[in-house]
Amino acid sequence: MNELERQLHYPLGDTLPAFGTTLEVVPGIRWIRMALPFALDHINLWLLRDELDGRQGWSVVDCCISRDEAKVQWEQIFANELEGLPLLRVIVTHMHPDHIGLADWLCEHWSTPEHPCRLWISATDYHLARVNSAGTSGFGGDSSALFFASHGLRDPYSIEKIRARASYYPTLVPGVPREFRRLMDSDTLTIGGRSWRCISGYGHAPEHIALYCDELQLLIGGDMMLPRISTNVSVFDLEPEANPLPLFLKSIDKFLALPADTLTLPSHGKPFKGLHRRISQLHEHHRERLVVVLPACTEKPCSAADVLPILFKRPLDLHQTTFAMGEAIAHLHALWFEDQLRRSLDASGTYRFTAVT
Ligand SMILES: [Zn+2]
Repeated sequence: MNELERQLHYPLGDTLPAFGTTLEVVPGIRWIRMALPFALDHINLWLLRDELDGRQGWSVVDCCISRDEAKVQWEQIFANELEGLPLLRVIVTHMHPDHIGLADWLCEHWSTPEHPCRLWISATDYHLARVNSAGTSGFGGDSSALFFASHGLRDPYSIEKIRARASYYPTLVPGVPREFRRLMDSDTLTIGGRSWRCISGYGHAPEHIALYCDELQLLIGGDMMLPRISTNVSVFDLEPEANPLPLFLKSIDKFLALPADTLTLPSHGKPFKGLHRRISQLHEHHRERLVVVLPACTEKPCSAADVLPILFKRPLDLHQTTFAMGEAIAHLHALWFEDQLRRSLDASGTYRFTAVT
């Protein structure tokens, strides 16, 4: 546990639910943990005891990527953890593969002619998931390779790998339900007789939805409020002039209105208290990064690839390099949009950022 984590409180200690089982967090809310084959090696999902259209059952928040291991774990949960009741709906915080991957499979598995098991998600994330699942955008392929090259990633091996990753999203998200129920900021859902409020968040996904229950002082934070790692805030090829960092910071500030004692259920890591502390840690984290990026661009015009080793000291695999590149561009763009940096395209077709003095 690092210094920052020590400032947070983990009420469940180091207890984790075993794979294929659930762990009750508070009555009616159960924690599922599934393995992921990435550097980020797990995701948390939440089962909420619910009643919908007069039927008893469960709602689930997020799904895991589509792969056999996850389906086997889900089957174990269906058999042993649902008290013989059905899944009533699938709520998805955002369109990233680890969150939406198995939504189609779950909805199909639990839908009956009388009672569709519906996907509930923001419209923005729904549509991008449909587009990405049908083809490629943002996570690999030619446009992605060109985009990273224009930000200075010139190593032919990495570029070729990114180019070859054209079917990355559809592999992890082979299908998205053909219909959905739209979630929007400030919508109120009744789940298990309790009121839950949707809180939109930007900068990580197009329109991330977190859920807050005032009665329980419980926040299902998705990827917008993580205790240990900082949420990925990236610029991608789909929106090359995006400025996601201020969007992210403004979004997490919305959680300041929640009680300081709120228990946050994050998508990665352990349930924690210390929400307000964590919000200031994240502000500080990004401020520190901006503070090192600016002098680098004062010394010489820098591409995103140039600032990568300044921002990330540890060695990165390709998956991490694409995320790190996206993050580096996000920090450069934040300063560029504030007119602290100027952007120019050099003779080799690389964007370089220079401090405005
Ligand atoms: Zn995410």
